[in-house]
Amino acid sequence: MEVMTAKYSGYCFGVKRALKITEELLKKKGNKKTKIFTLGSVIHNSGVSCSLADKGLISVRDLKKIEPGSIFIIRSHGMSPNLIKEIKEKNIKIIDTTCPFVKKAQARAAELSSNGYFVIIIGNKKHPEVMGIKDYILNGNYAVIENKAEAERLPEKEKIGIVVQTTQILDRLILISGKSLKRTKELIVYNTICDTTRNRQNSTEELAKKVGVMVIVGGKNSANTRNLASISKKINKRTYHIESHREIRPEWFKKVKKVGISGGASTPAEDIIDVKKAIEKL
Ligand code: SF4
Repeated sequence: MEVMTAKYSGYCFGVKRALKITEELLKKKGNKKTKIFTLGSVIHNSGVSCSLADKGLISVRDLKKIEPGSIFIIRSHGMSPNLIKEIKEKNIKIIDTTCPFVKKAQARAAELSSNGYFVIIIGNKKHPEVMGIKDYILNGNYAVIENKAEAERLPEKEKIGIVVQTTQILDRLILISGKSLKRTKELIVYNTICDTTRNRQNSTEELAKKVGVMVIVGGKNSANTRNLASISKKINKRTYHIESHREIRPEWFKKVKKVGISGGASTPAEDIIDVKKAIEKL
């Protein structure tokens, strides 16, 4: 079997940057008593999260658990400005690793809102990036839309502005923008899907056309990895989304000559290499 890896896969620029800043902080901290917190995991990858926890990073689900005098890391997904204000008021030092692409989406949402547009955010309602973006919009004048059906239920608005979660699929943006146009006379669409996501999606799509089986590696809780799996599955029904090489089943590869591998923006290169080696050994 020939095993090929997508041209663009694995850690993106934003994740690399957030991890580098976090690792450096943890190293500097050493045995010092200062505690370093995050809200949720720094990246959607359980192996990396465990390793950061071993080095002293404390991940909490509730802001009340962050102690005054400690350091708080804003993840690459960004965060609600209201929550940032709340943390600052508690004498906590903030280190912001928000990806510049996410900052751009936040700024576009704020700009549309202050210009009186009803803002549509295309994305997953519970994703931290989307939850952060929505708090840049004034007076709750927004809707988070995940699919075509929700777009069809939108009420009419004088003017609508659209931003999109950085890891979404372009086809979904096009589809929902079209539906939104039927609800207004004035529509502005900002395509805030990041370049990294676009490259990973395009190279996954290309590879899925050339191989018998596609294996997508990355966290099941990672939105961009799930999107890669869905793009690949549309082209190649024999697509499997796994988190580790231990999930590989030999029966997936029966009578297959070429296998493609791609990984999400939060997938370490070593995980992709391990999957490649495991398939080559079959
Ligand atoms: S996927 Fe894109 S927006 Fe998200 S962290 Fe990576 S580079 Fe930034």
